[in-house]
Amino acid sequence: IIEVENVRKSWGSFTALNDVSVTFREGEVVCIIGPSGSGKSTLLRSINHLEKHDAGRITVDGILLDDDLKHIDAVRTEVGMVFQSFNLFSHMTVLDNITLAPRRVRKWSRAKAEQVALELLERVGLSAHAHKYPSQLSGGQQQRVAIARALAMQPKVMLFDEPTSALDPEMVNEVLLVMRDLAKSGMTMLIVTHEMGFAREVADRVIFFDHGQIVEESTDPQQFFSAPNHPRAQAFLKQIK
Ligand code: ATP
Ligand code: MG
Repeated sequence: IIEVENVRKSWGSFTALNDVSVTFREGEVVCIIGPSGSGKSTLLRSINHLEKHDAGRITVDGILLDDDLKHIDAVRTEVGMVFQSFNLFSHMTVLDNITLAPRRVRKWSRAKAEQVALELLERVGLSAHAHKYPSQLSGGQQQRVAIARALAMQPKVMLFDEPTSALDPEMVNEVLLVMRDLAKSGMTMLIVTHEMGFAREVADRVIFFDHGQIVEESTDPQQFFSAPNHPRAQAFLKQIK
């Protein structure tokens, strides 16, 4: 569903993505790990064109990401993204946060958008909080709202960039639980994470990034986490354990 072919991205003389090629299939859950600055966020951000790649090709659900704004909009409609810092609209209620994009972009009526939003809030365990403002919620709750907001657009792919890194430890699990359910439901998910236990459990494939390149890929997370092949993956896992 996503094809990344020979993609490069640099800032000045610094190369964040160095000739990256990778394919993500429909329904696949892929965890992306690697050291800070290795290009993980840049890859995710390139896939929904928050960054414009310098060279190579990216297609999402058959749409080529080029300079055509229609293509960029079409891809963003199909791709949901959840960030480390929840990025909710602070002046809007939970319900309005979730219904905004579907009403504007999908042109749903308020009634339809609210019905879908309430179903999603139920799914992430926040039915009681629809009319609150983000500041009235905990970090874990805000992140679950952010996930519900992304899902409201009925995306084909969900991108997660360290969704639990900004959370207090006791709130990490409630967010991972929601993500685990989503993975079980068949959603295509690309997840940048430092939660190795979670990655080991839910990933169909693990990708290890270093210096802007994929240096190891494994469809056997158990095997990868217990005995990675590449020396840099070995060093990385040893250091974070
Ligand atoms: P982390 O684990 O810290 O989030 P990462 O693997 O997500 O790291 P990226 O955010 O993709 O790394 O960044 C790769 C490199 O590109 C970093 O060294 C960063 O300094 C650089 N970079 C990212 N965005 C920009 C920018 N807008 N301008 C200049 N350099 C940037
Ligand atoms: Mg990052």
